[in-house]
Amino acid sequence: MLDKVVIANRGEIALRILRACRELGIKTVAVHSDIDRNLMHVRLADESVCIGPAASAESYLNIPAIISAAEVTDAVAIHPGYGFLSENADFAERVESSGFTFIGPRPETIRLMGDKISARDAMRKAGVPCVPGSEGPIDDSQDANLRLAKQIGYPVIIKAAGGGGGRGMRVVHAEGALLSSIALTRAEALSAFGNDTVYMEKYLERPRHIEFQVMADNHGNTIHLGERDCSMQRRHQKIIEEAPAPDLTERQRSKLGSLVVEACKRIGYCSAGTFEFLYEDGEFYFIEMNTRVQVEHPVTEMVTGIDIVKQQLLIAGGERLTYRQKDIQFRGHAIECRINAEDPNNFMPSPGTITHFHSPGGPGIRVDSHVYNGYTVPPYYDSMIGKLIAFGDTREAAIRRMDGALSEAVVEGIKTNIPLHRDIVNDANFQRGGTDIHYLEKKLGL
Ligand code: ADP
Repeated sequence: MLDKVVIANRGEIALRILRACRELGIKTVAVHSDIDRNLMHVRLADESVCIGPAASAESYLNIPAIISAAEVTDAVAIHPGYGFLSENADFAERVESSGFTFIGPRPETIRLMGDKISARDAMRKAGVPCVPGSEGPIDDSQDANLRLAKQIGYPVIIKAAGGGGGRGMRVVHAEGALLSSIALTRAEALSAFGNDTVYMEKYLERPRHIEFQVMADNHGNTIHLGERDCSMQRRHQKIIEEAPAPDLTERQRSKLGSLVVEACKRIGYCSAGTFEFLYEDGEFYFIEMNTRVQVEHPVTEMVTGIDIVKQQLLIAGGERLTYRQKDIQFRGHAIECRINAEDPNNFMPSPGTITHFHSPGGPGIRVDSHVYNGYTVPPYYDSMIGKLIAFGDTREAAIRRMDGALSEAVVEGIKTNIPLHRDIVNDANFQRGGTDIHYLEKKLGL
């Protein structure tokens, strides 16, 4: 069992990791930027170390500072959370070579899955269905690219191998725009990700986003925890997630679940991970794998009763998974709303001091948030201030609970997207279930 863990993150996920450590009797070290010393998990951690100024590049992305903090506190492992350094293979390598345990998969696995082309290739070899497209990177041969796009069929999407966070993608609707779009995406990818490798895929016009959660230990045990539907998005950013996915059959679940488990075994996957798919007309198409805990992990925890973060810690400590596939039972329905400090009308960030905060509660309501009365949301980081999760025996019951909880929540002093969430959960099409990834933008008239 791990003795002491550095939590290399901030906000709600840092608090979530701290709570899991506490339940397992693991000591915690919070590493934080200078303006983050009042974060809830910093107050609750056994020890804390300031690792730099507010700017992420000098604190939460500062690899030497994080490793020194682990050294001076005699910690044994580092949990990266999500975002920041969580999918940085160089960081994972540095952590391991400095003698600490990286809580996540092996650096080689992060590297393999971090490049979208090598990930696609590995998945295709493992028999996981991918979006039709180029075999690997596309080169500068204009004739070949025009031929390939015609063969795939317009619209196509040009994607950067090193892209992430919804950036480095361009949709092409007709042949006339193909070559200039490839050149533009290449140039953008080079400046944003330092890698101008791009590839081509069929652009699916009305897919849903459905992803599968997996867990694997170092003893050859791998299981899946079912799926989440994260189709409610704006600018490729998820806003609401739910489990299970509306209308997905048990047969589809176990078929795809077995496929992703086999794929994990093939690449020697370890720890928690997520396979993201687009789903259209009854078919799944792999788009990418996230080699870390996801923001939306609570909905899976609510319907399976499994604590994903605790399992990550146990696995990193060398233990076996507590569950076999046959132990995994899905019960009820869970929905998560990401609460952001932003103007619900124009989505502009709204940092500032929360003058009054009241958290909703009652049966089936879970709030994962680090904020409190008097907390100041800084302008330097992601605007998410917490997640509201509602569980019910049925989807309808979960939606009703969510609506009630949203109406109970009080956050004053800053603007939040709670009004937008109320609007969505009362939307007839959302209530019917199964809306596609473009639904929200269309509804908002964007
Ligand atoms: P990122 O790593 O930036 O999140 P992804 O490959 O996961 O990039 O894609 C993000 C989002 O972009 C998807 O959830 C989907 O909305 C859209 N997208 C990506 N590939 C396609 C495609 N082939 N067809 C339609 N939409 C796509």
